Amino acid sequence: MSLPFDPTAASTAYQQALKVIESVEPTVAGAIRGELADQRASLKLIASENYASPAVLLTMGTWMSDKYAEGTIGHRFYAGCQNIDTVEQAAAEHAKALFGAPHAYVQPHSGIDANLVAFWAILAQRIEAPALAEHGAKHVNDLSDADWETLRRALGNQRALGMSLDAGGHLTHGFRPNISGKMFEQRSYGTDPMTGLLDYDQVRKAAHEFKPLVLIAGYSAYPRKVNFATMREIADEVGATLMVDMAHFAGLVAGKVFTGDFDPVAHAHVVTTTTHKSLRGPRGGMVLCQPEYADAVDRGCPMVLGGPMGHVMAAKAVAIAEARQPSFQTYARNVADNAVALAEGLMRRGAKIVTDGTENHLVLIDVTSFGLTGRQAESALLDSGIVTNRNAIPNDPNGAWYTSGVRIGTPALTSRGFDTDDFDRVAELIVDVLSATEPASTSAGAPSKAKYVLADGVVDKTHAAANELLEANPLYPGIDLG
Ligand code: PLP
Repeated sequence: MSLPFDPTAASTAYQQALKVIESVEPTVAGAIRGELADQRASLKLIASENYASPAVLLTMGTWMSDKYAEGTIGHRFYAGCQNIDTVEQAAAEHAKALFGAPHAYVQPHSGIDANLVAFWAILAQRIEAPALAEHGAKHVNDLSDADWETLRRALGNQRALGMSLDAGGHLTHGFRPNISGKMFEQRSYGTDPMTGLLDYDQVRKAAHEFKPLVLIAGYSAYPRKVNFATMREIADEVGATLMVDMAHFAGLVAGKVFTGDFDPVAHAHVVTTTTHKSLRGPRGGMVLCQPEYADAVDRGCPMVLGGPMGHVMAAKAVAIAEARQPSFQTYARNVADNAVALAEGLMRRGAKIVTDGTENHLVLIDVTSFGLTGRQAESALLDSGIVTNRNAIPNDPNGAWYTSGVRIGTPALTSRGFDTDDFDRVAELIVDVLSATEPASTSAGAPSKAKYVLADGVVDKTHAAANELLEANPLYPGIDLG
């Protein structure tokens, strides 16, 4: 396993912790045991999931959770925050050093929260601050009601340009079901219909026509690198702030797989991320930014965030310290190499994948080549012990619910120790299951986008083959819950 830890110490810690939990609420202790057993027994290919180290997980189970600490380091609205200051400072310093960022804000509770903090900071820096200055005020509370009305009208004039959902963008990049779609007038850029690749000329044309305040780059399901130097050029041409959401690929940036033009921190004004996906930390978010955005970003709590979670910021510090070790660069390289092995293994066996390859940690299979919807493929794979998630593909004929794609990623199984040969075998299992799955009809005889039948014996055969791989690469080896 590529995670560093001492199994004897971790076994003792978890056995004792479970005893304490069991004495109060045995159901919860049972679910905790059950979750480890489930995770040990399945091929986890969800591209946004990983396995955090015991040091990261144990850090979260402490009394750092019990403190209120609204405000920023050394400037809190509550007394007695010196230890929270210490962990927040440690997490921010590790993040700045790891990513080469001038400023890091580690309070966001999730990726969505990090994006919300970033959006408000950009609005504050680009619109609110100049508008306040025009009214001779420093803070909205200094304004008369009439002036505040004028300012609100100015705040209404906001445009964001981001990647379309079916090209792999994220809901929080200005789409209607998310608050960002209400804060911003949104327009999307897509990918080239022939190659599936990001078309920078199209982005440039859209930016010049639409003149966004924010150009958003980053994705949840695009299997390629993005040239952030080019995106910054485009942003500069139209006076936009470049915001990159690196939630998915932060581990590849941390591990120096994405460098130069492909390093978002070197080119964007504001970078947001989650800490729990390829970065392999606790569930949470973070904002990195250029100095001119720092004050506004630091107002995240209480502007849009609830009180900072001391236990999670402490775990972020531990995880980012781990990511600063040379072994994390090996891990990140393996994540990317394993994704290539997975993509090639799938294509060699006849599967169609979006963009005919990958340059990051994920692969998007177009399951229409198997005559299936994403929903049918996801369910058939799950029956066989392979955990994936269905995902739209560009111009998806089956829409965002049933979809025509299955997204798979390598961060979690790479943490377990899987190598390129193992991922080639995973590709074989996936193709075997999808080839043995047929769409089925509803009880009324109509074609169904959800129902399917699997050929006899496939589920058992796949489980047996998956078990061989899982046993050869055990999850948290040596950790015994007693
Ligand atoms: N940004 C991107 C690109 C994501 O893929 C995701 C989640 O999948 C998020 C933000 C939201 O992260 P969270 O679930 O932590 O709010």
